[in-house]
Amino acid sequence: MLRTAIGVSLCGFAACAAVGLDTRELAANPSVVYAPGTYPNVSTDFIRALPKIEHHMHIEGALSPELLFKLAERNNVTSLSAGNFSTPDTLWERYRNWDGLADFVAVSEQEMVVFQHERDYEDLAYSYLERSHYDGLVYAEVNFLPEGHISRGISMETVIRGLRRGLERGKTDFDIDTQLFACFSKTHNHTRTRATIDKLAPFAQAGDIIGLGAAGNEDGFPPSEFSDLYSYARSVGFQHFTIHAGETGPPSYVREAAFDLNLTRIDHAISARSEPELLRQLAEKDVFVTVCRLSNVLLGVDGQVADAPLREFLDAGVKFSLNTDDPTFLGGSILTVYLKVQEAFGFDVATWERIVSNSIDGSWTTDEHKDSLRRKLEAVMRQWDGKEL
Ligand SMILES: [Zn+2]
Repeated sequence: MLRTAIGVSLCGFAACAAVGLDTRELAANPSVVYAPGTYPNVSTDFIRALPKIEHHMHIEGALSPELLFKLAERNNVTSLSAGNFSTPDTLWERYRNWDGLADFVAVSEQEMVVFQHERDYEDLAYSYLERSHYDGLVYAEVNFLPEGHISRGISMETVIRGLRRGLERGKTDFDIDTQLFACFSKTHNHTRTRATIDKLAPFAQAGDIIGLGAAGNEDGFPPSEFSDLYSYARSVGFQHFTIHAGETGPPSYVREAAFDLNLTRIDHAISARSEPELLRQLAEKDVFVTVCRLSNVLLGVDGQVADAPLREFLDAGVKFSLNTDDPTFLGGSILTVYLKVQEAFGFDVATWERIVSNSIDGSWTTDEHKDSLRRKLEAVMRQWDGKEL
């Protein structure tokens, strides 16, 4: 997903309405939107029951207007009192009517000031799991954008400890497993990014964060330019790596990510579909792709939901997961993504089983945990065998 200088994502201008999503309803009362509907081949209940895994969600993009105002009041932030920020309702309205990237940057920069203390980050992480619990989320690899926080004088420890506390509380209340990783901005200079990696390193070495990704505008920032930073991160204890590539960038960026950076996970990678040989190479290398279809549509970067290269990936053997990217700003939580994909593609039960199974395979977790996730999938498949299919 596109990223601003402070690391918050861009919502889809007027496109939210184009796909019939109401972000306010999705966040506040998912059952309103998820009333049983008719989808080709499988039922809404089957889609909801599938054990879902997210590999690509920026936690800052889960901030709801309601939580924003709560944090602003708690931290005596008065700069949100005027104009667009007068009430949660007016802010939801803004989320549905962005007037371009500059408008979004202006709004999101103001929002970040509400995060000041460990408890604020805890509330943000917990709110994501609370909302996703309804959707059948069972495991999430959650990323955060440290530079959007430490640049305001917040310590890395405050951010990471707060997020981890919220995720741990969510595990207790909703039984959703999580891991945390960091994501740097490709648009920042490398000296600054290296300093951020140094601040993150002790947390990577302690296992508090498990990996490193990179987001940001792709134009003019080919993945190969970041090879020194990825090598450095490997040398200081990071275990897993990914990068946004091929969202708006050409197939060559996907190739660079897979073969110059030697990564086995790439975020988006949708432009690879135009090169069958590249798809074959990605499958051969077992490169895993995190697809964020509503994000692509709402941002206007790639057609409609039905234009996603999901069948091309499946046919070529490229494993992928379905993800929200930024659930609040981009129109909905993980169940919405699954339902919109089903609405567009009409996958059968076996294909959904394969997609979820591949999502398990591509996770940065232990073999034991993967076995546990597979048992959850098998239980759903047994439960729904022959029902309403
Ligand atoms: Zn993203």
